[in-house]
Amino acid sequence: MSLKLYNTMTRGVDEFTPITPGKASLYTCGPTVYNYAHIGNLRTYVFEDILKRALLMEGYEVNHVMNVTDVGHLVSDADEGEDKMALGAAREGKTVWELAEFYLQAFQRDIGRLNILEPSVWCKATDEIDTQIDQVKILEEKGYTYRTSDGIYFDTSKLDDYGKLARLDIEGLQAGKRVEMGDKKNYTDFALWKFSPKDQQRLMEWPSPWGVGFPGWHIECSAMAIKYLGPRLDIHCGGVDHVNVHHSNEIAQAECALGHKWCNWWMHGEFLTMAKTNGSGGRMSKSSGEFLTMDRLIEKGYNPIAYRYFLLGAHYRQQLAFSFEGLDAAASAIKNLQRIVVERKSDFDNSADRETVKPIESHMAQFQAAVEDDLNMPRALAAMWAVAKDTDSDRAEIYKTLLAMDDVLGLGIAAMQAETIADETLSQIDTLIEERNTARANKDYARGDEIRDQLTTMGIEILDSPEGTTWRKI
Ligand SMILES: [Zn+2]
Repeated sequence: MSLKLYNTMTRGVDEFTPITPGKASLYTCGPTVYNYAHIGNLRTYVFEDILKRALLMEGYEVNHVMNVTDVGHLVSDADEGEDKMALGAAREGKTVWELAEFYLQAFQRDIGRLNILEPSVWCKATDEIDTQIDQVKILEEKGYTYRTSDGIYFDTSKLDDYGKLARLDIEGLQAGKRVEMGDKKNYTDFALWKFSPKDQQRLMEWPSPWGVGFPGWHIECSAMAIKYLGPRLDIHCGGVDHVNVHHSNEIAQAECALGHKWCNWWMHGEFLTMAKTNGSGGRMSKSSGEFLTMDRLIEKGYNPIAYRYFLLGAHYRQQLAFSFEGLDAAASAIKNLQRIVVERKSDFDNSADRETVKPIESHMAQFQAAVEDDLNMPRALAAMWAVAKDTDSDRAEIYKTLLAMDDVLGLGIAAMQAETIADETLSQIDTLIEERNTARANKDYARGDEIRDQLTTMGIEILDSPEGTTWRKI
């Protein structure tokens, strides 16, 4: 057993070694709850879930913390623009607190539908204002901060290695962006605490040693990660868009506050891209206005697990282009898998020695090698199909093997059942077939075809034969 993982910090794939043997601490940046997660956001959480399940498969006890950004962090990483929470509340006629609760529940529903395992700890930024203030105080005592007219800032020039994760060209950034700096000393400096405007009460604001205001966005993750997971962290994850600013700033805050190296492993999931109507591809984002949510996919008739399967078809470090054709292919793969699982489960249920049936070692070895190879899910899926389509092995063992693989894949194999059709749908099908027979007997073929099309959209295929008309589920 040796799990090899890519580390953004070293730009290499190395064998994972935990700080404490047998245990893995994992911090994943969570959602900002001012709107629904789009399916591109959800890709990151599926990647993190595969990582967590791989650690569990390798026998680690995983302590996983995810934050919830429910305080209005500003629209841009550079601490400028408007407050996302305030904008969302105004848009929907809710209080900021109602808005946060509504979208947190929506997010938790979405990850549940995708079979994403819940973190051990959810921590909300607004519950941890004091934790954040305490970290800013330490940074202030150590001389890393300065005050401007609008807040307390982190002075990135005090560090020799600021931006090491992203390998930022600090001098280049500084030279290029001088005009946009406002009161900041260096272009890469960022807010730790922002003051409320003097003439205006903000929807969310708190007292602090520096004045009434609210924390900068980056401080919540380093403060809460240290509070819940201790001063040394095994793995920190997020989307690839966090490398340059958010995670670079988290490292600066945490390492300066602690006085030593903080996190060993940095892992980032790549974007889901979306073909745009003008033909050019782009990253899916909320600011572009139109974005796809899990609810929208479900409304269109897709099983969320088909979306999970679609995501597993690409390595997490590669961009993936979303398309409905791709999702259709994933949905039909899941249906095939479901059919095979149902058959093998019945073999397993009828097996005399089901208490002692074990997964097939040769198949499991292939699967595990794929998972251990920096979470190579396309290869892991191929290993799963190899066992699903295995015609030589014991069928009960095949079922057990699929179940064991699903501990990592999370496709819900244990819950797969033969498709059932509700009674009222059955009687509707019968009525439509009778109506079609009458239409055809009256030579009204147009009406007959119309009814066939209606049944097709219900997922029902009509089969005409000399013995009469039957149907089957497509
Ligand atoms: Zn974060």
